[in-house]
Amino acid sequence: MIDKAKQPWIDISVPLRDAMVHWPSDPPVSIKRVKDIEQGDTANLSVISMGSHSGTHVDAPIHFVKKGKGVDNIPLDTVVGRARVIEIKDSESITPEELVQYRIRRGERILFKTENSSHVWQKDEFVEDFVFISDAAADFLVDRGVRLVGIDYLSVGSFKHGGSYVHKTLLSGGVWTIEGLDLLKVTRGNYDLICLPLRIIAGDGAPARAILRPVAHGKASI
Ligand SMILES: [Zn+2]
Repeated sequence: MIDKAKQPWIDISVPLRDAMVHWPSDPPVSIKRVKDIEQGDTANLSVISMGSHSGTHVDAPIHFVKKGKGVDNIPLDTVVGRARVIEIKDSESITPEELVQYRIRRGERILFKTENSSHVWQKDEFVEDFVFISDAAADFLVDRGVRLVGIDYLSVGSFKHGGSYVHKTLLSGGVWTIEGLDLLKVTRGNYDLICLPLRIIAGDGAPARAILRPVAHGKASI
């Protein structure tokens, strides 16, 4: 049954396009049309080549954890269900000091809207000084037992200081991550989330379409 009171879904994934911004040491994104109706072919068809961590994507534990789960083994309710968007004020990193006020509970899905969303996706060049999850905040999130965190640029960890600790801590601590979200059109609050990564066998990561819908008065609706 269609509930007319429900708000429309908001697309928080980044459009994939040829030569779009990517992590500097990862392969580029290439999307080329190899059959073209304009050129007399009977159909349009493209060949796509890119790193598995391009655009909006889910990281699987095996990205940083030997023998960790692949993206095909993600429990679907990790990425489908209620999520909370938290707006981060700190312009450098996400810290436990800022997070403590939000009373984050076990099993929550948390998406961090940082300053990144206001500018990073408008640029063609990679932004090095994006807001990231600090090492201490990664420990904090694992300790709180969250099941999912999302961030609005290409890594949960820092580019300049290295992101291994944050990735390893989250991914070995039972926290799945979504990277590369665009949260510009979203404000803090509760939402329904759907974010399904491609079912790549033993995949270390996979591109995903991510959408949010505001939840009225705290009612879960998925
Ligand atoms: Zn990743």
